Amino acid sequence: MSQRTFSIIKPDAVRNGYTGAILAEIQKAGFRLVSIKKQSISVKQAEGFYAVHAARPFFKDLCAFMASGPLYLLVLEKDNAIADLCKLMGATNPANADEGAIRKKFAGSIQENAIHGSDGDETAAFEIGYWFAGYELV
Ligand code: ATP
Ligand code: MG
Repeated sequence: MSQRTFSIIKPDAVRNGYTGAILAEIQKAGFRLVSIKKQSISVKQAEGFYAVHAARPFFKDLCAFMASGPLYLLVLEKDNAIADLCKLMGATNPANADEGAIRKKFAGSIQENAIHGSDGDETAAFEIGYWFAGYELV
């Protein structure tokens, strides 16, 4: 069944000039681009987005990184979108990502790992609603 997921092309990937290549991988994998916008987010916005990680030791660094430069916010759609995007991204740490995964090709470290993808139905709904208004998703 067609499903939506939320993704971010993170500031490291944008800085390194990988936006086009990552979008090409996503489209080649069969995702429909429902919406895309470039944005420079604040630390506060990053903290709200990553609130589930507030107690983790890397939280402060992660939020500073996410606010360190422009990123792309994406809403993607296909059958089984959430699981398929996670597979396409590869492991959180690019050193452990499968050959061919986006993080293997384009990420430099466990923090600066090029791309975000929702990890479940409820997180996808929260994350899409956090960044996009309904009228942006038609
Ligand atoms: P994402 O949620 O961004 O798609 P993920 O689900 O693979 O990635 P999470 O465990 O949800 O990973 O962590 C969220 C983000 O926090 C990671 O993508 C990464 O940028 C950062 N992160 C996770 N673990 C670490 C760590 N040990 N050190 C530094 N940063 C980390
Ligand atoms: Mg996650």
